[in-house]
Amino acid sequence: MAMSCDHPDLLPLDEALRRLWEALPAPALAEVRAERDDPATDRAAMDGVALRAVEGRAPRRILGTLFAGDDPAAFTVTPGTAVRIMTGAALPPGADAIVPVEQLEADGDSLHPTTDPRPGDHVRRCGDQARAGDLLLPAGTPLNAARVGLRAQEGLPLPGRLRIRVGVASTGDELVPHPAPHQIRDSNGPMLAALAHRLGADVTLRPTLPDDPPALAAALRNPGDIRILMTSGGVSMGDHDHLPAVLKDLGATILFHKIRLKPGKPMLAARLGDLLVLGLPGNPVSAHLNALLFLPVALARLEGRAAPDPWRRARLAAAVKNKGDRPLLHPCRLVEGRLEPLPGKGSADLITLARADACAWIESPGQEAGAKVRYLTIV
Ligand code: AMP
Ligand code: MG
Repeated sequence: MAMSCDHPDLLPLDEALRRLWEALPAPALAEVRAERDDPATDRAAMDGVALRAVEGRAPRRILGTLFAGDDPAAFTVTPGTAVRIMTGAALPPGADAIVPVEQLEADGDSLHPTTDPRPGDHVRRCGDQARAGDLLLPAGTPLNAARVGLRAQEGLPLPGRLRIRVGVASTGDELVPHPAPHQIRDSNGPMLAALAHRLGADVTLRPTLPDDPPALAAALRNPGDIRILMTSGGVSMGDHDHLPAVLKDLGATILFHKIRLKPGKPMLAARLGDLLVLGLPGNPVSAHLNALLFLPVALARLEGRAAPDPWRRARLAAAVKNKGDRPLLHPCRLVEGRLEPLPGKGSADLITLARADACAWIESPGQEAGAKVRYLTIV
C-alpha cells in the first residue's frame, strides 16, 4: 500500500521561526537620549574661513587655522580678520559664517570672499539636530549599524560582540576523509561553516561526531565558547538518529522537532542552557536550506537586530509540480529576474543546489509558469 510520509500536523515553517525567535534572549536595549546638544557647538560644515558676514567681500587678515577637535577659544574673530577652518571644527568666537575655499581669493597676506556671505552660511548650528535630553530612539529599538553608531555617539554601552560564535559539527559514522564506496566525505561541515560565515557569524568547524550517544552527549555538554551549535544528521527516524534522545536526556528544551517543509522535515531546535542547538537534517540540501532559514533568525535575535525577511519574489519561467503535502523549496537559476527551475533530484542532490542561485517556495500541488513566487537566495 502506498503511504504518504507527510503529516498535516507538522509545524509550519513560520511557526518554527517564531518559536526560535521567542526562545532566544535579545540584548536589553535602553532608550537613546541625546547626551548633549548635537552639535554641541556651532561647527564648520565646509573647509574654508570663519568670518563675520557683515563685512561682505572686504579682505580679511588670517589669524590662524582651526582643525576638527581644536579648541576654538584659541582665536577671536574681530573686524578685518578671519580664521581658516576645517570641516567639523568649532566656530571661533566672533565668527558667524563660513566661506568655502572655492569662494575665496588671496590678496597678499589676506583673503577676500568672491560672493557675499550671510550669517549662518555653512555653519551647523549648536543643537540643530537635537537638544540635550531629547529622545532619539525608544527603548527596545532593534539594532542596526546606524543605531550602533548613534549609541556610540551618545556614549551608551555597545553590544559586547559584533559576531555571534557558532560551532558547526557534522554527525555520522559514514563521514571519512578518504571514503570507500560505502562511505562519504563530510560536505555539510564545510558548507555550513561557509554559510555561517556569510551570514555574519564567528564560526568554527568542529571535528565530525560519531553516531554514538555518549560521544554526542559529551560534545553537547562541553560545547566550548560558542553560543550556537549547528549539527547535521542524526535527527531523523533511523536507528542511528540519536540526537533528539541525547538532547532530551541532557535536559534540553526542544523548541521544535519536525517541520512542514520539503526538504527539511526532521529539523530540530533545542536550548541546552545558554546553548542553542540547530539540529539540521543530514541530507546536504536540507541542511543548507534549513540553516539558511533558521540561522539568520537566531543571529538577529541574539545580536538585537530586527527579525530578517529572507524572501524575495520573482516569476517562474516554467511550471513546478509539488506532489507532496509540504511546501517545497525547489532549486532554480535566476535568469533575467526570472526563476528557471532546475531538474533537481531531491534533498541529497548537492550538485543541483550548487548550480542554483535560488530556491523557490512551491505550495502543493505546484505552480504554473509565470506565477509569482517567493524565493530564497543561495549564499
Ligand atoms: P541522517 O539524517 O544522519 O540520517 O543523514 C541523512 C543523509 O544525509 C544520509 O544519506 C547521510 O549519509 C547524509 N549525510 C549526513 N551527514 C552528512 C554530511 N555531513 N555530509 C554529507 N552527507 C551527509
Ligand atoms: Mg546520520
